[in-house]
Amino acid sequence: MNSQEILDDIVAAIRPQLGKAGAVANYIPALARVNPCQFGIALRTRDGVEAWAGDAMTPFSIQSISKVFSLTMAMRLAGERLWERIGREPSGNPFNSLMQLESEQGIPRNPFINAGAIAVADCLVTCGDDPKSEMLALISSLCDEPVHIDEEVAASEAATGFRNVALANFIKSFGKLDNDVCTVLDVYFRQCAIPMNCLQLARAVNFLCRDGSHPFSGVQVISARQARRINALMLTCGTYDAAGEFAFLIGLPCKSGVGGGIVAIVPDTLSLCVWSPALDASHNSLLGQKALEMFTSRTGLSIF
Ligand code: GLU
Repeated sequence: MNSQEILDDIVAAIRPQLGKAGAVANYIPALARVNPCQFGIALRTRDGVEAWAGDAMTPFSIQSISKVFSLTMAMRLAGERLWERIGREPSGNPFNSLMQLESEQGIPRNPFINAGAIAVADCLVTCGDDPKSEMLALISSLCDEPVHIDEEVAASEAATGFRNVALANFIKSFGKLDNDVCTVLDVYFRQCAIPMNCLQLARAVNFLCRDGSHPFSGVQVISARQARRINALMLTCGTYDAAGEFAFLIGLPCKSGVGGGIVAIVPDTLSLCVWSPALDASHNSLLGQKALEMFTSRTGLSIF
């Protein structure tokens, strides 16, 4: 079976299950009104072969998947210094939890929980000239198409992001946020509000299966070592508090978002994006996970 046939097969198996379980994120209206009965899947191999199926061209809110791109930028700009402010351990707590910040003195457990992504955004404000434009430019270049910020989603994130405001202030209270809380949160809220489709995301994370080199130009986006480290963090911390379950069932580094997207990396081989808006209790796309499990079972691909 070639890649296209595998993806078509997965879509045929997933379609009858759409709308039967899970719930779309409802903390902001723009996400609450998304039709849950959608499913898309796309992949791009290391050598640039692409395949897609289902609703792979429908844009959705990338939400926490943006944390992969902000981390990439921060590692590029700050190098090892980034790790003075952020840990690398799974949190085992909800993504927006304040608890560990208290005992760990304002050092977030990892860059993929909200506290960690806020610390990453702080680093981008310190080291970059215009982090929001730079992030759009990076993602647009990686997927070879212009991407933008959905202003309605960004405004709702800001209007309802009370926990994120609390997290940023809490980090600041330990002296571990260098910049103004509002400036840092503006970067964070806007990065969450970028709409992209499965094919664009499969392209945009493809550098992580190519030792850090850009999927179209071949230029290093980050070093091979940094790409390996991002994959390690995706495996251990990329899927809220279900990373153990993902490693067990899927066996690939993944990063999910509450918009229902999940990106996955098969190092040296391919990058993948699945999307279905209905989430399970851990905030991961229910059918997206099932699709990834089918993909790795059928192809035998795994990092283990
Ligand atoms: N904008 C969401 C928040 O900060 C991101 C949620 C997510 O995808 O994890 O709460």
